Amino acid sequence: MKKISIIIPAYNEEESLPMLRDRIEKLMDSMKNYEFEILFVNDGSKDRTIEIIKKMREEDTRFNYVDFSRNFGKEIAMIAGLDYATGDCVIFMDADLQDPPELIPELVKYWEQGYDDVQEVKSEEYDDVYAKRRSRKGETWLKKFTSKMYYKVLQKTTRIEIQKDTGDFRLLDRRCVNALKKLRESERNTKSMFSWIGYKKKEVLYDRDPRIAGTTKWNYIKLIDLAIDGITSFTTSPLRLSTYIAIPTFLVLFVYFIYVIVKCFVIKQAIQAFQAIILLILFFSGVQILLFGIVGEYLGRIFNETKNRPLYLVNEYNGEKEMNEEKG
Ligand code: UDP
Ligand code: MG
Repeated sequence: MKKISIIIPAYNEEESLPMLRDRIEKLMDSMKNYEFEILFVNDGSKDRTIEIIKKMREEDTRFNYVDFSRNFGKEIAMIAGLDYATGDCVIFMDADLQDPPELIPELVKYWEQGYDDVQEVKSEEYDDVYAKRRSRKGETWLKKFTSKMYYKVLQKTTRIEIQKDTGDFRLLDRRCVNALKKLRESERNTKSMFSWIGYKKKEVLYDRDPRIAGTTKWNYIKLIDLAIDGITSFTTSPLRLSTYIAIPTFLVLFVYFIYVIVKCFVIKQAIQAFQAIILLILFFSGVQILLFGIVGEYLGRIFNETKNRPLYLVNEYNGEKEMNEEKG
């Protein structure tokens, strides 16, 4: 029997938990041929969240929990979940029921049989079945708009394919879990990591529900932080900006230099003071920006190095040794 771990980061979710429990129990009843592990990561909640979870565990040992010493943020809660999950696959879900548990059988279906709905035949298994939002109920147009623009910018800055309108609600095969566990950087942007690890991905459309109870833990400052983290952890292309500015500066310098020299020789007119000043300004600002760019290039490499990511992940190996580690 395969085991499914459902990881649920929870921060001040006492109001959502009873309803969440109902829905999850229904789900578990409907999927009798799987073993379940519900793993709550209590992210330093200030309300009764952990007491409620502990009580749930007393009544049903399929409920598990990791309790943080303080609030570390959802991204860290997610990696802790991966570290503690024991299932053959894991599913990330929010505690506020914005991710409907009823979609889980479909995610599992694709993971198990890789059902291909275009050709309506069994294809290969999928490693990463992610739920893509068809609609976003209960969210303001501003949030929708900013999120759309953000994905656009993010995709422009990287060659890794980014999944649009996709949250953290997804099913990951054990080998994706093991891959993600290798990415131990502290400034985490899990969404970019899902893209980075690759493997066979499959999208499933769903309607995102409004929050069932309580209020969102996000505000715009936090969202902007997340957005900047996303871009800066994905790419170092902002650091390249000065190189891009230096090139046109030198071009202008060059053209103006030729113009002044030619004028000097053809019209036999001495170089004027303002021309010399403009040339000097162009030259030195060009040099400065270029040097910044060079520093940026090296900084970018150091930055990527310090993240300590594995250089590549092996999808398949013709022998035994590596595969065992990959499959964990
Ligand atoms: N969450 C968390 N730590 C935090 C903030 C949020 O573990 O510091 C959890 C929260 O309990 C919920 C999920 O992350 O299960 C998503 O949070 P929320 O619903 O507030 O975000 P939104 O859906 O509005 O993006
Ligand atoms: Mg939510």
